[in-house]
Amino acid sequence: MFSTLLLLAGCTNGKKTGTSDLSQHDDTFEYSVDKFADIEILRYQVPGFNDLSLKQKELIYYLSEAALEGRDILYDQHNKYNLTIRRTLESVYQNYEGDKNSDDFKKLETYLKRVWMANGIHHHYSEDKMLPEFSKEYFAEVVTSIDATQLPVKEGATVNELIEMLTPIMFDPNILPKRINQAAGVDLVKTSAVNFYEGVSEKEVESFYNKMKDQNDNTPISYGLNSKVVKENGVVTEKVYKVGGMYSPAIERIIGWLEKAANVTENDAQKNVILSLIEFYQTGSLEKFDDYSVLWVKDLDSQVDFINGFIETYTDPLGMKGTWESIVNYKNIEATKRTEIISNNAQWFEDNSPVNKKFKKEEVKGVSAKVITVAILGGDCYPGTPIGINLPNADWIRRDHGSKSVTIENITEAYNKASLGNGFSEEFMWSAEEVELAKKYGSLTNNLHTDLHECLGHGSGKLLPGVDSDALKAYGSPIEETRADLFGLYYLGDPKLVELGLLPNDEAYKAQYYSYLMNGAITQLTRIQPEKDIEQAHMRNRQLIAMWVLENAKESNAAEMKQRDGKTYVVINDYEKVRELFGELLSKIQRIKSTGDFESAKNFIEKYAVKVDQVVHKEVLDRYAELNLSPYRGFVNPVYNLVTKDNGEVTDVTVSYNESYVDQHLRYSKQYSVLPNIN
Ligand code: ZN
Repeated sequence: MFSTLLLLAGCTNGKKTGTSDLSQHDDTFEYSVDKFADIEILRYQVPGFNDLSLKQKELIYYLSEAALEGRDILYDQHNKYNLTIRRTLESVYQNYEGDKNSDDFKKLETYLKRVWMANGIHHHYSEDKMLPEFSKEYFAEVVTSIDATQLPVKEGATVNELIEMLTPIMFDPNILPKRINQAAGVDLVKTSAVNFYEGVSEKEVESFYNKMKDQNDNTPISYGLNSKVVKENGVVTEKVYKVGGMYSPAIERIIGWLEKAANVTENDAQKNVILSLIEFYQTGSLEKFDDYSVLWVKDLDSQVDFINGFIETYTDPLGMKGTWESIVNYKNIEATKRTEIISNNAQWFEDNSPVNKKFKKEEVKGVSAKVITVAILGGDCYPGTPIGINLPNADWIRRDHGSKSVTIENITEAYNKASLGNGFSEEFMWSAEEVELAKKYGSLTNNLHTDLHECLGHGSGKLLPGVDSDALKAYGSPIEETRADLFGLYYLGDPKLVELGLLPNDEAYKAQYYSYLMNGAITQLTRIQPEKDIEQAHMRNRQLIAMWVLENAKESNAAEMKQRDGKTYVVINDYEKVRELFGELLSKIQRIKSTGDFESAKNFIEKYAVKVDQVVHKEVLDRYAELNLSPYRGFVNPVYNLVTKDNGEVTDVTVSYNESYVDQHLRYSKQYSVLPNIN
């Protein structure tokens, strides 16, 4: 599960107080790479890379190549026309011989940059289809001018047929309007643009998987995780992602790099993780995927680690299908001491939480947590990336074997450094006092909240016997994120953190309390289009928490929304009392999760998390526009190169940071693109 607390530009501000190795940082490093539409692209550094052993560097290199090979899989999962559209646009971008300085061409360039950012034609966050600002006529004109051999034209088809196929998909707002539809009362499968289902209804998909599920199975398979559901000759069936199945050409390339990686592992446990992942890709067997996940969660000794596969299910309206993603990373040993303190005390946190005893875990198992430096981002982690991850997702593996939780510090560092002095805090915070708190403690408490969210929040609590882990359906993701966030928020204000040496004093936590409520109630609205609802799970969870707390703080006046000079602010009058409210809400949300109470989950989400106050929204958008900031950020990866002797022997792996956003995507599309246009 992802945590994406920091995605909002400027939501933390202030100096870095972490303990990462700063010796290899370059103060003149340019973090900002590109800016277009609502996006800013940043670079991140990989401090400590040069101190790794040659073997570790080589391992990272091969795993990074494997991480980049899955890029096209994600495009296709998001929508079946995405690869054709991207390839058409890239060809025009590179081969068009007309005026490349015209307004229309610039608009085409912006649209292509947006498609790269979203891994497809739907916005990476709002899920809405992004409409080009150039006309269909211009599109037809430039595509027609390109040689057919340089376009993704089907065999036997013409360029005109390509244009006719793509025009409504790109330009008609009523066709495939949403990547994932979560509106109540419609067929979610038929109304979502994702390519996980074709020719089947939501009911048919549900009955297809219900037949497979064994309610008495104590270690249930994650059915549906790695396949597309289709109807063949009237029969509902699955196309499995594996060698010889769907996405085979890309999967074979991934395996090729994994095989090289398996020869340079740090230890046998790590080698076995890689070999079992290869077996999963070869067979498509979800039992093998569970075997792999168990081996992976147990490998705690290796410094280099990775995620590679069909992992997160946020983009499936039914929450079953895993989008392809990869991250390669290595442990930040110094900063990991912080998360080790947290996980060593996991049982204390579980025992002392404000939830009902019957929903608590008697024994918290294997909560391992570390701070990592990301070396490469791939698939669903690129260009937009999480800042914390907790895996595996299978509840029974978490129950029996624990989970691994990471905080990605070199990414949060890039966010923080790029936000310094952009005026965001000054505009949206109530007074200089909150700005000062944010400067002093914003970075530290934000990282700590991520640690608590990932290594304690998701791992805490239990389902009552017989409760289906899918009982909350589409409300499951936001409720789960709400639970993890609240667990972190509640404990941030606990004196225990000062006692453990994680916070310097008893006021630091206020920085995160303030920015959390401000973000949930006000500033995250900068990422919502006028008159739209909130769709994304993390955004829903943050608004739920902020709105519920503000509503329930009225009586005691612990926190409120206040006006000054026509501007709306969050004001916290009593931080202690706000902490109590976090605890109270945590206890309610945990009950919903533990008992699988679908109706209550629905009521909470629909009442607090979806609808937006139109007046406040408009005001916030206007204030934000004045600052001229981008509400979303993505990244470019560093470039790694193998240095070899004439005989092929590897002598070093170098890292460089010079590639532009455009060059990186064009190179990836050339180097790592083996899937057919339509899969
Ligand atoms: Zn989470």
